[in-house]
Amino acid sequence: MKFDNIVIGGGMAGLSAALRLVEAGQKTLLMASGQSALHFSSGSVDLLESEGDPRTTLPAFMAAHPDHPYSKVGMENIEASLADLQRHCAEQGLPLVHNETNHQRLTPIGTLKRTWLSPDTCACITDAPIPDALLLATMEGFRDFHPALAAANLATHPRFAHCRVLTGEIRLPQLAEFSRNPHEFRSADIARLFDKQSGGKHPLVAELAREISRMVQESGVPDCRHIVLPACLSLGLVGPRLAELEQRTGCTIKEVATMPPSLIGMRMQEALKRRFMALGGTFLTSERVLGARYEGDKVIGVHSQNGDDQLFEADNFVLASGSFFSRGLESRLRGIREPIFNADVLSLEERDAWAGRRLFDHHPFMGFGVKTDDKLRVLRGGKPLTNLYGAGSVLAHYDPIKEGSGSGVAVATGWQAAGHILAGV
Ligand SMILES: Cc1cc2nc3c(=O)[nH]c(=O)nc-3n(C[C@H](O)[C@H](O)[C@H](O)COP(=O)(O)OP(=O)(O)OC[C@H]3O[C@@H](n4cnc5c(N)ncnc54)[C@H](O)[C@@H]3O)c2cc1C
Repeated sequence: MKFDNIVIGGGMAGLSAALRLVEAGQKTLLMASGQSALHFSSGSVDLLESEGDPRTTLPAFMAAHPDHPYSKVGMENIEASLADLQRHCAEQGLPLVHNETNHQRLTPIGTLKRTWLSPDTCACITDAPIPDALLLATMEGFRDFHPALAAANLATHPRFAHCRVLTGEIRLPQLAEFSRNPHEFRSADIARLFDKQSGGKHPLVAELAREISRMVQESGVPDCRHIVLPACLSLGLVGPRLAELEQRTGCTIKEVATMPPSLIGMRMQEALKRRFMALGGTFLTSERVLGARYEGDKVIGVHSQNGDDQLFEADNFVLASGSFFSRGLESRLRGIREPIFNADVLSLEERDAWAGRRLFDHHPFMGFGVKTDDKLRVLRGGKPLTNLYGAGSVLAHYDPIKEGSGSGVAVATGWQAAGHILAGV
């Protein structure tokens, strides 16, 4: 089976590369072994932790970190990659909010986290005035969002000093069946029920609207018009459902990501996958790539767990298999390993030096990963493999948590890897 390109990994980095390649008319196969970090993420795209416009901070950051993946992509391309992501998401009915500065998204525990792009259904804090009252609500018995905890944390934020942060519980008899087994009472289970009961004379959303109105009346602030709910109202595009709720209640309704699984991230993954397939790409799921065949300094094909002896051949390859979390990197007693190509990695032999002493210390292992040259070509035995490009969190020299750069790096490097491939076609 021969393709122009094979992308290994179905997360933000793999999808970003695959979309650019397929849009340029390239026959592209994406192979993914399973879920990506998006299934556990907020669905927001962090560019760089910064109070103002991260684009003004980035040039100095790149100059100070010449090995950082952003430095291999460059400012203009970083911006172009993010603009492309917004375009693809919008095409799939998932518009993303962004301003000229980082905005803040509400986290499930009520803290505020700076980020660059967020789905427009998310509860975000921008420069717009904070309302006088806000109601954080959840479904009775749901364990993955706790309004009381979130409200207590949010109320300590200076911008919320004047705001009454209220809490409430929604009681829907239709959800009672879940409470028998708390393991079945997750955001995806609730969303499935809303999706199933969206039509007919008595859609579940109408009952939810009545419950919201009741909660507001009983909250002590009956003119409260701003509601935040856990993201559990649809597995698919939730915008129309929230719009219907807003129309029925007269309130503004936004979502907050729950503890994993995170529907907001999953929706983004599905939207980008749909877009890739609509453009003619081939997406193989549950397909773990095990190894490769080489000719000199070129990869000629990869083989997978389910493919028996079949070699998936292509002219170019993108390695976007993620970090330890997605098994794109594996840890060993005396270092780390990239399991598919046995690529060169940045690591430390002395295990004690991998992590800082305290949770919020600097942890060197976060910067471990695959080494590449300036064109993002993966190094093996000290030399680049000429048609294998690395992208996303499999890469060395970046720390998504400390820098607040997680999905920004994934999108930018995936897009840039595709750009190098296209430049050589
Ligand atoms: C739990 C978690 C939450 C995060 N939340 C955020 C957030 O809210 N915002 C943010 O900006 N950043 C966040 N990040 C940072 C994250 O690293 C990036 O956001 C980004 O999503 C990483 O994308 P990726 O494509 O590089 O890797 P991943 O999303 O990890 O995707 C790797 C893909 O490779 C596949 N794969 C692995 N090995 C193989 C193989 N052998 N064969 C075939 N496929 C394989 C996996 O199945 C998966 O599809 C989070 C990270 C984690 C771990």
